[in-house]
Amino acid sequence: MTHPIRPLQPGATLGVMGGGQLGRMFVHAAQAMGYRTAVLDPDPASPAGLVSHLHIQADYLDPAGLQQLAEAAEAITTEFENVPAQALRTLAERRPVAPAGDAVAICQDRAAEKAHFGASGVPCAPHAVIETAEQLAAVSPELLPGILKTARMGYDGKGQVRVATPAELAAAWAELKQVPCVLEKRLALQRELSVIVARGADGQIVHFPVQQNLHRDGILAVTQVPAPEVDAALAAQAVERAGLIAAEMGYVGVLCVEFFVVDDGQGGSALVANEMAPRPHNSGHYTIDACDVSQFELQVRCMAGLPLVMPRLHSPTVMLNLLGDLWFADGQERTPPWDRVLDLPGVHLHLYGKTSARPGRKMGHLTVTAATPEAATATALQVCALLG
Ligand code: ADP
Ligand code: MG
Repeated sequence: MTHPIRPLQPGATLGVMGGGQLGRMFVHAAQAMGYRTAVLDPDPASPAGLVSHLHIQADYLDPAGLQQLAEAAEAITTEFENVPAQALRTLAERRPVAPAGDAVAICQDRAAEKAHFGASGVPCAPHAVIETAEQLAAVSPELLPGILKTARMGYDGKGQVRVATPAELAAAWAELKQVPCVLEKRLALQRELSVIVARGADGQIVHFPVQQNLHRDGILAVTQVPAPEVDAALAAQAVERAGLIAAEMGYVGVLCVEFFVVDDGQGGSALVANEMAPRPHNSGHYTIDACDVSQFELQVRCMAGLPLVMPRLHSPTVMLNLLGDLWFADGQERTPPWDRVLDLPGVHLHLYGKTSARPGRKMGHLTVTAATPEAATATALQVCALLG
């Protein structure tokens, strides 16, 4: 890093690249601790821009916008992984930037990401990089049936095609416009987990408990903590591996690593790293309501050079993502019945201030906290019944 991070006291301005919901929750955490905030996002109605002290409406590579951000903010972070790594490198010439552009660049590219898992000694799914027709032709039949994923810019299951035969693979690559891709063997998943770690500039690592995640149509739907079907040994291994992955790239900031749990071939379970995000993660939103320090507060602490503390889960919890589909019923647009949902105990509603609902769009999330995991699950089921 060009600039060592020295502690920035509350009152300083913290900057974030991107103004989505993750940026909004970062701004909330930073402001709660007395920091001022600056958001750079071209969208005048971005969720974080709407709540920040300063909103710079500029393109992510606009030199004037980056200069304004570097002048306003004494340290800078990012809320999405597709921020141009070059923009972070440019900002790092003026201010401490965490995570660094080089780390974000690894997370932006599935091929680089998988190579990094390997370098960290962490297994991932069998795969092949496909950038040329020769590489396509040379793919091992062992990788089929598989999932062809664009190496860059994929999220929420977008940019992915399931393929069973070499002919389907060729057609899928054509459909994806022959951009660089990774073909991954399709694994029989027992379940999906994620681990969020925070690593300081001094190398100290803290982590949240392991999260168990359920995806629908490639989009996160439900996160449960404590993970109901994960034994202590597997959880410890997931935490250890997330830490190895962070340390191997000298990471500073909050990092989420997604894992698949698969059959180990001997009647047990094995862990396979799927992907990582160089920022707080949707599967960590529960930390706001169920932990004594949230993933967003740790993002603030990392970039401000403040001490990190090991988070403690104080309530068993279930997080439900609120997608735009909920704003439609019987073909009519509606407001979901929040008044009835909020009548249930331990329900925490988070809406991101997005003005228009679209199916599949993340509009908010809802956390249920309770004294026991069973009670949290029971209330979450009641919420689902009310939302329909
Ligand atoms: P995204 O960037 O869209 O989150 P992921 O690689 O995490 O992309 O894939 C989204 C979801 O698709 C995963 O959470 C998992 O449910 C499923 N999936 C992805 N890769 C595989 C695989 N190799 N085998 C089985 N399921 C997979
Ligand atoms: Mg994913």
